[in-house]
Amino acid sequence: MGVEYRHSSKTLWTPFAYFFPVWVKNFNEAEMKLFLIRLQLINRSKLETHVCRRFCTIPSKGGKIKYKDTLLLPKTKFPQKISPAHRKKHEESLAANLQFDHLYGFQRLWRQDCPEYILHDGPPYANGDVHIGHAVNKVLKDITNRYKLLRGFRVNYTPGWDCHGLPIELKALKDNMQSKSSSKEPLIIRKKAREVANESVNKQMNSFRRWGVMADWNNCYKTFDKKYIQMQLQSFYQLYKKNLVYRELKPVFWSPSSKTALAEAELEYNPRHESTSVLLSFRVCSDAATFTTEIGKALPKEYEKYSNSAVEVVVWTTTPWSIPSNAAVAYRENKMYSLLFYENTNENIQKFYIVASECLPRFQATTQIKFAVVSEFEGSYMGHFKYKHPWFEELSCPFLAADYVTMEKGTGLVHTAPAHGADDYVLGLKHKLPIECYINDEGNFDSRIKQLSGLNALTMGTSQVLKILESSKLHEEKYIHPYPYDWRTKKPVIVKTSMQWFMDTNKIKSLAVSELEQVGIHPNNVQHGMINQLVSRPYWCISRQRVWGVPIPVLYHKETGEPLVHKAVIDGLCVLVENSGNADGWWDVPVGTLIQNDELATQYEKGKDIFDIWLDSGISWNILGDKIADLYLEGVDQFTGWFQSSLLASVALRGKTPYKNICVHGFVVDDNGKKMSKSLGNVVDPKSITDGKPGDRHPLGSDVLRWWCATQGCSNSAKISISSSLLQSSDESVQKLRNTLRFLVSFCTQDYIDKLQIDDVSYDELMYIDQYMLSLLKKFQERVTQDYENYNYDKVMNRTLHFAATEVSSYYFTWIKDRLYCDFKESQSRKSCIYVLNEIYMTLTKVLAPVLPYLCEEVHSHYNQETESIFKSVWFDVDNQWENIPVASVMDLALDVRLTINQMVGDNNSKTLWAQILCNEKAFQTLQLLHPTNCSEVDKCTSELCDILQISGVDLKLSENKEFSIEPIGVGHSLEGYSVAIGKTEMFQCHRCLRYCCTEGNSMCTRCQSVLNSLSQPAAGISKDSPPGPEIPVPDPVKEEILLRS
Ligand SMILES: [Zn+2]
Repeated sequence: MGVEYRHSSKTLWTPFAYFFPVWVKNFNEAEMKLFLIRLQLINRSKLETHVCRRFCTIPSKGGKIKYKDTLLLPKTKFPQKISPAHRKKHEESLAANLQFDHLYGFQRLWRQDCPEYILHDGPPYANGDVHIGHAVNKVLKDITNRYKLLRGFRVNYTPGWDCHGLPIELKALKDNMQSKSSSKEPLIIRKKAREVANESVNKQMNSFRRWGVMADWNNCYKTFDKKYIQMQLQSFYQLYKKNLVYRELKPVFWSPSSKTALAEAELEYNPRHESTSVLLSFRVCSDAATFTTEIGKALPKEYEKYSNSAVEVVVWTTTPWSIPSNAAVAYRENKMYSLLFYENTNENIQKFYIVASECLPRFQATTQIKFAVVSEFEGSYMGHFKYKHPWFEELSCPFLAADYVTMEKGTGLVHTAPAHGADDYVLGLKHKLPIECYINDEGNFDSRIKQLSGLNALTMGTSQVLKILESSKLHEEKYIHPYPYDWRTKKPVIVKTSMQWFMDTNKIKSLAVSELEQVGIHPNNVQHGMINQLVSRPYWCISRQRVWGVPIPVLYHKETGEPLVHKAVIDGLCVLVENSGNADGWWDVPVGTLIQNDELATQYEKGKDIFDIWLDSGISWNILGDKIADLYLEGVDQFTGWFQSSLLASVALRGKTPYKNICVHGFVVDDNGKKMSKSLGNVVDPKSITDGKPGDRHPLGSDVLRWWCATQGCSNSAKISISSSLLQSSDESVQKLRNTLRFLVSFCTQDYIDKLQIDDVSYDELMYIDQYMLSLLKKFQERVTQDYENYNYDKVMNRTLHFAATEVSSYYFTWIKDRLYCDFKESQSRKSCIYVLNEIYMTLTKVLAPVLPYLCEEVHSHYNQETESIFKSVWFDVDNQWENIPVASVMDLALDVRLTINQMVGDNNSKTLWAQILCNEKAFQTLQLLHPTNCSEVDKCTSELCDILQISGVDLKLSENKEFSIEPIGVGHSLEGYSVAIGKTEMFQCHRCLRYCCTEGNSMCTRCQSVLNSLSQPAAGISKDSPPGPEIPVPDPVKEEILLRS
């Protein structure tokens, strides 16, 4: 459909004539004026009326042509829908054709002068397949990076993996046990563990790439890389030189049967384990009279004669063997305790007991002791007293307040042995209690307590302890409860201390807290919690008794066990790592090779500890050199994990925070709010979302997964929901946006925009509707940019979806479709809306690209045949000119009329209705800008107001009296200064554009006739047999599949 241009050299339109088709010369002056208005070549403000968009009639040239072929319908090869069966292949070929893998390297290379944005990747654990939590984390990071890329930054993002640690070692052990050459040799286990980790890294990396995560996948960091290990060994030496590491006893799960410490993951709980449960009384160092005075009460008269009697606290324990290690009794400050009187006249015993008031009924039922309540007092008084040690009578011990004391079991007074319990140990550290462990590695009492020496703690040792403590025993029974067993030997374990390495967090805590106070935390309501967790962290044990990790490079004296941290040893090990690529040498070579000092070599042996993997990952900021990361983005649980270990390690080693900002997301739960776990069987495999699962789920593709991550993973909630219905609605949302983008790209391609010289269109030339749309677009741009900056990707996406479906598809597309499809191809009216469509396209693709890179890169490859990645462009500049308050107020009134009419339309097709609007002066002046007055009936059908109202025609009148001259099927009044009546139109439908705007039946409107006449179709003419033009679809954002009629 081409238009032939011809020079013309006369009349008033001479300046414009160069561009005009030949038939224009037939216009008279009035027609030409309207024509120029239509083309917006004359500034409308200079014209008496500028709202009539239609043309005068010119004679038809005759001939045959189908109406629909004369319409400028959307045309694009961008597919409407990608069927589930083809999603995977489609996305993979997009990634390959559009070079997803090259983007990261490209921007590193070409944006060297741009400001850098560093998102430091928290390394996922290299064990097994990815789970849905990985998807949330990686996708949110990628959204951030891609957004920053569009904002003109040079993104620095190096993915990493945490490759050491127990779960991998256990897997290696299990695999090794199954093979013929089962061996527990460290080097064999390490070799196998390395394979396990490598395999997992590769598997996980493939998933991350499938999700569209942008990175240089050939240059990731792994905690078992040789450079990383060397850096870690040297970091330990620095900590040692700074006096920030020390060695001390700490309670661990100890398996006497395999003579090793065990981690929680290596325990099995036996629910039927039988312990000995006892109630023992410890004697308070004060007699009854002193005690009651101290708690501010007097001993009641009837007990005065017993004022010198003993006061004893009653404790309950299921580990009587740990009594010799007792160092305190813990109580609860804000609970009430009772002083009880007990008398046994047969044996002439009178004494007082103390038990928490809430525990009295259970105490009485268990012991069957008859006692009288003498007095009640608050727990905090217990701190005023001391008691005689139950085993070493010469010692007196304190009562200490502790939150772990509960009233659900026992007596509200807890036997505390810092060597044999985690809570006890922390309390012991806090109050500097002695940490004494009399149990050796075989689980037997050592020789320091003669009566118990050599006895097994859990069996004979327990009996012997109770025999010796017989006089203070109030009750004894067998107690069945879950108890930890060694998962390999199936024998019970005990908690006992062993020597461990610690980072001295107390020395760095205050600096760490002040550094943390400078860090931006999102959401900001959690900052206080993180500081509290940091302050309350009691210690950081950095050693583990395993083999799959970085060895702690310390030698120990063969006789005294004294540790030796020596630079030569560390440097020697680093050379081994350099040469072999791993730290196996520590288990392999003799001490002499490391230290190259014969004398020391004979006296010392290598340690068998490895570093805690939290130290491995806690120093990962080293890969950035001196730079501080702009962002750490992880799950909320990392407040006590990686965020904290990284901060502590960074503050310890270089005195500053490793990050400027922290952003957290929640963890994924199922439909019922339950956390995902393999044992519950509610785990969702992200691969089943992207690539489908036979018999269960259709492939939805990576963009849908990413949409779900953005909309659910970011909502400031600790719980992220996933369900089939949420995924389904994510799919529908992405499809809706695809429809909108498809409509846009079918009118906006770089070529088309250039051809129509859209860039030359100026804002002032735009029609009201178009200027109004730009004002909405500007508001949208500002809001989504703000939401992106605040990491509120859920808000960005929900806002975008709503904007695309409502303001863009439902309103704007509807209003402009007539001129877009039916007006002259190069008319100003079309250019005006294509200008706006192009701006909408540019905005929507950029806003959506960080979340939906596949979709946006695909549509962009249709927009721009050069196939430049959309990420090589930059974010839009918000144009302040677009905020046009006068236009907005005109449109507001028109939309108010629209609402009033819509309420009356009922079952009628609005396009067959005529509206009469009677206005006061102000409303009349306003609406007149969108609609001509005092004009022909035809012109009353072709205004911007008609487009907005989607009706046949409008009769706009200035009238204070409310007398309508049409037969109304509905009448409405508005407080905005107008009344409106609607009735059936008397106009006939145009064959081509289908508007009801013709004065005669079986004809065409003047605009359509003009357009047809202009087409240089030899022997053109309208065949009477040809079907009328198709109905111009009104987009329905919910169910619409935009009808492309090309
Ligand atoms: Zn028409």
